[in-house]
Amino acid sequence: MNPRVKTPNKPLHGTATAPRRARLMSREQAGQFIRAIAAENPAPETELLYTDAFTLLVAVVMSAQTTDAMVNKVTPGLFAAAPTPAAMAALGAEGIGQLIRRIGLWQAKAKNVAALSAMLVERHGGEVPREREALEALPGVGRKTANVVLNVMFGEATMAVDTHIFRLGNRTGLAPGKTTRAVEDGLVKRIPPELLRDAHHWLILHGRYVCKARTPECWRCQPPEALFHHRSARYGAGSRNGASPVIISASRRPVVGPRVSP
Ligand code: SF4
Repeated sequence: MNPRVKTPNKPLHGTATAPRRARLMSREQAGQFIRAIAAENPAPETELLYTDAFTLLVAVVMSAQTTDAMVNKVTPGLFAAAPTPAAMAALGAEGIGQLIRRIGLWQAKAKNVAALSAMLVERHGGEVPREREALEALPGVGRKTANVVLNVMFGEATMAVDTHIFRLGNRTGLAPGKTTRAVEDGLVKRIPPELLRDAHHWLILHGRYVCKARTPECWRCQPPEALFHHRSARYGAGSRNGASPVIISASRRPVVGPRVSP
């Protein structure tokens, strides 16, 4: 039997036509949601390969508009050639570019990595600063990259909103917002403080592997049914807990959000 079901009468929530339909979750529900997706990944970590604050910073800058898996194909060679800011600055944009040509926007990224490495040497003694303002002053580093570095290396409870987190915030009602900053602020306000630091990883991994942009795999979703007023109607009742997955053939366009800056 063809598992494809009829197009629902209403568009899927979280699509281009209805990006912010989900009802706002309460703080209590937000805590329940995060605890449930935490069970999918009890010890979350970034999937980028890095060895220290500098290599993490470079890897995150490289990850703009491309996947972590793709970044991980080029960074081992790059870090072997230039493991420190001084060595990276000496390699220069051209040398860096030769080693990262397989990723998108490689020319701009090579320039930024060379320039930020030089600035780390000149202004910060070759160390990655732990202040947001100093991080965001580095070439190619925006709020999202600073949030990742502050979270992963310096243990701060920051929320770096990438394309997955932006989609989840809107699709689930966890933190609806038109901009990445609005979603970030909503998440920081609504997620219990003790869960906030790891919530960044849990949300990214949930969005990357379960709540995918085009075909969310609701039958694999851990959070309790009660949190998903959207799910039974829009994604097919009985699609969880061992029942056959239901493929919805409605709009396949992903949530339309702002282009997420680094
Ligand atoms: S996978 Fe489905 S049920 Fe789970 S958060 Fe995404 S849309 Fe909701």
